[in-house]
Amino acid sequence: MRIFNYSSLRRVTSNARRRCVAWPAWLAACVLAAGAAPAAAADDERATVPMVLQRVADGVYFVQGESAMGSALNQGFVSNAGVVVTDGGVLVVDALGTPALARRLIEEIAKVTTQSVHTVVVTHYHADHIYGLQAFQEAGARIVAHVGARHYIGSDTARLRLQASRDELFPWIDERTRVVEPDLWIDADATLTLGSTVVQLRPVGPAHTPEDLAVVLPAAGVVFAGDLVFRGRTPFVGQADSRRWIESLDRLIAAGPRVVVPGHGPASSDPAADLALTRDYLKHLRETMGRAAAELEPFEEAYARTDWSRFEAMPLFKQVNRMNAYNTFLLMEGQAGK
Ligand SMILES: [Zn+2]
Repeated sequence: MRIFNYSSLRRVTSNARRRCVAWPAWLAACVLAAGAAPAAAADDERATVPMVLQRVADGVYFVQGESAMGSALNQGFVSNAGVVVTDGGVLVVDALGTPALARRLIEEIAKVTTQSVHTVVVTHYHADHIYGLQAFQEAGARIVAHVGARHYIGSDTARLRLQASRDELFPWIDERTRVVEPDLWIDADATLTLGSTVVQLRPVGPAHTPEDLAVVLPAAGVVFAGDLVFRGRTPFVGQADSRRWIESLDRLIAAGPRVVVPGHGPASSDPAADLALTRDYLKHLRETMGRAAAELEPFEEAYARTDWSRFEAMPLFKQVNRMNAYNTFLLMEGQAGK
């Protein structure tokens, strides 16, 4: 377990682009210098979707995004963010999916404390959890993430995802939205102490992503599980390592937390029961698609004859299940014989 002295942390990047974002005056200068003339007003727009801090323990809250795909209508509010108020500043878990949502969360935090946001921990670098980072950085917060995300930043995948989000979520995501690098990478269990509150950062990937981090508050018995846990909607599997994901869920359940706050959906005060849905869905994908891959059955046939009845009532099933199944099929093909 690594214990780091938080006061000694430094911003590891200070390039010009960073400074553009840190101070609005620089931003204007940089936009002009780049010759860009953004028509949108995402930096100025205020997110108007309902956003309420839900209390899960003393000083511990989260906001819950809608169970939907991100759209201009829901303003991209489709994921959760956690808030831990301490006497040494506020810790935020995940940055939400747009800068406007992040600014709105900062406003909501100001209703319950005079402390400012000190640290943002990113549970994983997926679009719906990270595009708010620049707003937290502007507000002076430091950003912490796991080194597993290093390859993503600056990658074609990240660039193409941002490009697509600019279309899908305009004007909430626009030319000024960026993928922000953390100030601090961690590569092992870490403990940070904010005021009198101890926060444990636990790498739990590669599972949903290579960089999954769970944020544990031992005194409150609360775990922010990121997208290891989906509730109230079909999980998004993407390129996940579902075998490790299932193992991580089993460990999470075995640790017996009082409350688990997922990356999507409501908090759980009965984690053993509530986390089982994500785990059982992943197991079903692996069993059915694994069998098909082993028998060299074409994907379409395997998909058509698989019994999905236990899961098809879950929101977003139609939108994501086929892709989840296909990705799992490819994964199981790759793992066959290994
Ligand atoms: Zn997510």
